[in-house]
Parts: sequence; C-alpha cells; structure tokens
Amino acid sequence: MGKLDGRVVVITGAARGQGEQEARLFAAEGARVVLGDVLDDLGEALAEELGEERARYVRLDVTREEDWTAAVAVAKERFGRIDGLVNNAGILRFNELVSTPLAEFQTITQVNQVGCFLGMRTVAPEIEAAGGGTIVNTASYTGLTGMAGVGAYAATKHAVLGLTRVAAIELAAKRIRVNAVCPGAIDTPMSNPEGVDPEATAELYRKMVPLGRIGKPEEVAALALFLTSEDSAYITGQPFVIDGGWLAG
Ligand code: NAD
Repeated sequence: MGKLDGRVVVITGAARGQGEQEARLFAAEGARVVLGDVLDDLGEALAEELGEERARYVRLDVTREEDWTAAVAVAKERFGRIDGLVNNAGILRFNELVSTPLAEFQTITQVNQVGCFLGMRTVAPEIEAAGGGTIVNTASYTGLTGMAGVGAYAATKHAVLGLTRVAAIELAAKRIRVNAVCPGAIDTPMSNPEGVDPEATAELYRKMVPLGRIGKPEEVAALALFLTSEDSAYITGQPFVIDGGWLAG
C-alpha cells in the first residue's frame, strides 16, 4: 500500500531538482503524476522512465493561464481527475534591491507568485470536484526572513505564504488542505549556478547550517509527501521549514 494510492497529483517544475524528486516519490507511493515544466526534454524523459500508466509530461509555463487550462484538460483526459497539486516551479536571481531591474523583479514575481496563484485558481475547482485533496506550495526559508541579495525572490516567497494561508481558510470547507514547504539550502541546479564551484557551495553550508550540510531534494519530497498524504489530515495553512536548523540561528 502506497501513501498516495489512487491519487492524481499535478507537480510543476517537475523536470529536475525538488520537483523531480517529488514526482519520483509520489509515483513510488502509488500516485499518478502530471509533470509540468518548460524543460520539455527532461520532463518527457522522466515521464517515460516512470511509465505511461503512472506519469504524463505536459508543457506548463506556470505564468500562462492557457497552459494551466490545457494541463488540467490533459490530466483529466489521461487520469480522470485531479486531487493534488504541488506548486513547485520557481526561479531565483541574485541582486541587491536597489540594483534590481524592474523587468527582473516582474519576471520573478510572475513565475513564483503569479504562477502559484494561477495554479491554485485553476486546479482547486478540479480538486473540489474530485471530493477534496491537497495543495502544497513551495515557499522558502526566505519566505520567513530577509536575506541580502534576494529581495525580489524573498518578496515572492513571503507572498506564497500569504496565498497559502488565505487559500487554506477559503478552501477548507471544500475539503482542500493547503500548506507550504519552506526549504533552506537544497542541493539542486538552483543552488549550483554555472560558474560557482559546487564544493565551495557545500563548504559554505557546512559552516552555516547547524546540521552541517546542504539539504537533499529527496528530503523536501518527503515533506511534500507528508503534506499530500492523509498523515497530515488535520494540518492546513501552515509553513513547514526544512533547513537543517538554519533559521533557528
Ligand atoms: P531548480 O531550478 O532545479 O528547479 C526548478 C524547476 O522549475 C525547473 O525544472 C525549471 O525548469 C522549472 N521552472 C522554472 N520556471 C518555470 C515556469 N515558468 N513554468 C514551469 N516551470 C518552470 O530548483 P529547485 O531547487 O528544485 O527549486 C524548486 C522550488 O524550491 C522553487 O520554487 C524554489 O524557489 C524553491 N526553493 C529552492 C531552494 C534551494 O535551495 N534549491 C531553497 C528554497 C526554495
């Protein structure tokens, strides 16, 4: 028996990083997963690996309303219904606030904040129609605290927590629970940008994080599984920090 037997879950940003691990774990726990991303080759390859009974890739740019509508149609056509959503897609750019170009601020807002809103708005009615379910939004450590150099990003992640709390209250009567994961530093392509030595990144987090290491995307996937499964049946509207103790300091 898997923890998600019979569930159909849409996961955005599923082609790599945390979204990929969520897709792998959810499928292993019995879910059928709809993988949305803009990295078509990686997304298609993952869906193929998981098998067509279990997974379907769909091009889903989370900033585009029409992509959401199409993704929902594909999910229903392929698997019959939707009862879970993981809003995981996100982008990060480093810039001090006063140096941040307006276009960069707007792009980050579109993907991280508007994408999360559009996802909930489009998919929640489908989850309600399926009799209820769950939404997991991906915020960040920087959704709860400030950090130099990530102003636009942190603003969107604070917004994701606001959206999560409001949606949890509004959707509770529709039997939809809404929670957020707030990762610290997790070892994905986002944390290892081109030109930065991965060993230097690892060393940085060995020093900064109380548990002495960067987190694994599989660990965030395990938290998302908890929030998507019945194990968290009485939890809604909450941010869950997964950061090796970083925020505790
Ligand atoms: P990643 O860059 O490896 O993966 C992000 C995925 O989102 C990619 O597959 C990318 O193609 C996809 N994506 C980007 N823009 C998109 C769009 N417009 N539409 C659809 N998909 C899009 O990064 P990750 O670390 O796996 O990040 C996953 C989530 O976790 C993000 O929301 C990120 O902000 C958050 N997060 C990451 C960390 C970290 O340290 N890695 C920490 C805190 C929060």
